[in-house]
Amino acid sequence: MLELAEVHVRYGHVEAVRGVDLQVRPGTVSLMLGPNGAGKSTMLNAVAGLVPLASGSITFEGERLSGLPPHRVVRRGVVLVPEGRRVFAPLTIEENLRLGGHTAPRAKVRETLAKVYEMFPILADRRSSSAGLLSGGEQQMLAFGRALMSEPKIVLLDEPSMGLAPAVVDTIIEKVSLMAESGIGILMVEQNTEAGLDIASEVKVMNRGGVVFAGPAGQVRTDASVLHAFLGDAALTES
Ligand code: ATP
Repeated sequence: MLELAEVHVRYGHVEAVRGVDLQVRPGTVSLMLGPNGAGKSTMLNAVAGLVPLASGSITFEGERLSGLPPHRVVRRGVVLVPEGRRVFAPLTIEENLRLGGHTAPRAKVRETLAKVYEMFPILADRRSSSAGLLSGGEQQMLAFGRALMSEPKIVLLDEPSMGLAPAVVDTIIEKVSLMAESGIGILMVEQNTEAGLDIASEVKVMNRGGVVFAGPAGQVRTDASVLHAFLGDAALTES
């Protein structure tokens, strides 16, 4: 289990994350909602070791993660899929995927690559194409695949549906669900509330750095006023 306890992150005078507690269990999707600037990306980046904590702790399977450099966080089994996908456009799909597996032994890379191609057949079909030629949805799948190449136990997803057409969002959300079914714990930041709620078990809402609501996804679904209170009119109409 991934566990954040009283996590604070500061950028100079700005306290971007203020006392966040949360847990992510294997095989489940935890959803983090909240308006722009709420601190969601900062919280994910802190877990990935990209920004230091001002105080608090992050542990995984009982051992401290906070304070480790990003590559050691990946080795411990926690990997970030950043906002905007950030695939290497001039490289082929397969080259992008192999970069994700650069810490693993060769034989292992072949095996993991086969699993990734099985989960994302579209990547297999186009393995020799430049990543820059892929559509937004395909690039998101490549970003997922690249993360899976390190055989993670926890995947942090920063707005995977951003900028994608609704039909493509459905496919992406299905893939997130499949990743969870394979046993991976997912911590997903999403602006697309509806799509996120379809697959999440736990939901948290962040505002101004702090968690202002935490509860099971079912409760949020049946009690729309919960979300309305924290996210306003747009809460359940975005797509
Ligand atoms: P969005 O959905 O817009 O990405 P968010 O909830 O992910 O929003 P963050 O990007 O984590 O929010 O930003 C939280 C706060 O920290 C904001 O006030 C933002 O301006 C500030 N912030 C984010 N990154 C930096 C940085 N590198 N330096 C200084 N301040 C930052």
